[in-house]
Amino acid sequence: MMTQTKEHVYQAKAIVIGGSLAGLFTGILLHSIGWQVDIYERSPHNLSSRGGGIVLQPEIVAAFHQANVTYEAPLGVVANERLYLKPDGSIAQRMAMRQTLTSWNLLYGIMRRHFPNNHYHSDKTLAKFEQTDDQVTATFTDGTQATADLLIGADGADSTVRQQLLPSYQPIYAGYIAYRGLVNEPDLPQETAALLTKRFAFQQFPNSHILQYVIPGEDESLVPGQRRFNWVWYVNYDEVTELPELLTDKTGRQRDASVPPGLMALAIEQQMRDYASQMLAPPFQTLVQATREPFVQTIRDLGIPQMAFGRVALVGDAAFIPRPHTAAGVSKGAANALSLVEALVNYNHNVRQALEIWETDQLRLGMHLWRRGQELGDRSQFTHGKERFGTQNKVSERLQHLR
Ligand SMILES: Cc1cc2nc3c(=O)[nH]c(=O)nc-3n(C[C@H](O)[C@H](O)[C@H](O)COP(=O)(O)OP(=O)(O)OC[C@H]3O[C@@H](n4cnc5c(N)ncnc54)[C@H](O)[C@@H]3O)c2cc1C
Repeated sequence: MMTQTKEHVYQAKAIVIGGSLAGLFTGILLHSIGWQVDIYERSPHNLSSRGGGIVLQPEIVAAFHQANVTYEAPLGVVANERLYLKPDGSIAQRMAMRQTLTSWNLLYGIMRRHFPNNHYHSDKTLAKFEQTDDQVTATFTDGTQATADLLIGADGADSTVRQQLLPSYQPIYAGYIAYRGLVNEPDLPQETAALLTKRFAFQQFPNSHILQYVIPGEDESLVPGQRRFNWVWYVNYDEVTELPELLTDKTGRQRDASVPPGLMALAIEQQMRDYASQMLAPPFQTLVQATREPFVQTIRDLGIPQMAFGRVALVGDAAFIPRPHTAAGVSKGAANALSLVEALVNYNHNVRQALEIWETDQLRLGMHLWRRGQELGDRSQFTHGKERFGTQNKVSERLQHLR
């Protein structure tokens, strides 16, 4: 946004904390309405190898369109139907449903290439911020500072920005985790590959379900043979007696919320593979067997009562974590950013007024997705009580057996 006065031209400035998907959506969209945007990302590395499959929702496409992002269509792999498998692998139900399935790294790669390099600052961790009526100043852990008209907290579920504003609001473990995996197309036997390609496939069983779909390759390729099968399997684990062991990686480090590919403890990985051969339909068994580096993500809930705080706003997972059954975490980040730039334009770039108006609908959206995700997840995981697969299996018992 340029404001011309006799003396100078003023360009409004924004600081975005977090350079993942919600931060990049906000960055490219603010840039598209004339703002100078600087993104500060804690990680010193390129983030492009992160994450798995994402259902392509309309808000993602709308954000790209609004920000004039160019890309080669289509933005993902098309599935034409949903398939529900019986335990023996035969088809219980099929439903025509066309969906485009994309990947975290394709969306990240497109936005990262579109956002100016010299305004994306890696290895910069926010320590705190301070705001006055006129500006907001971020202080980083290396002692440097940046000042702007607006600060966006897009720093994810454990947001530093949120911790300063709403210290009592933290993500809460939902009672289950997602085992996840990615398999390169050539690594799956032909018969299984043929069944699972072009389809969004599910298997539901007591207190659990697994799903899979094909996504672009790690290099963003959409060419058949160069893509990946992406699967997610939701399994109950007790927070006190089981989760700490599950989240301890193979180096012995206990992690907060996830264990990345290649770092699962061998006994935990073996247990997952044992469960797969006991519980899953043969095509899903084959898929799990073909997975070289499975990983774990805990499912967590977070909802907050306020997203706008003067010149500071929370977006993406920093504000609300919708459970993945809504397939809306990423698109909510896009919707937060789209609506923010609309409010800024409508209110002549007056940050305080625009944020106040912006917040109402975004809180409503966040709360709706938060509750919807809880309903869907609880119905899948806890209909038969809290037990894993509705049985008395316990990780510790299983691990004892494996030792
Ligand atoms: C199993 C599973 C499946 C999912 N499937 C889907 C799906 O199909 N569709 C969908 O839309 N969503 C899905 N999601 C949700 C989706 O992954 C998240 O909603 C989304 O990635 C959140 O993006 P974000 O940018 O808000 O947060 P994050 O991706 O967590 O990014 C936050 C960034 O901030 C940085 N950061 C943190 N603290 C600081 C700091 N102090 N200073 C600077 N930087 C900092 C971090 O390094 C990180 O890069 C799924 C989630 C799970 C667990």
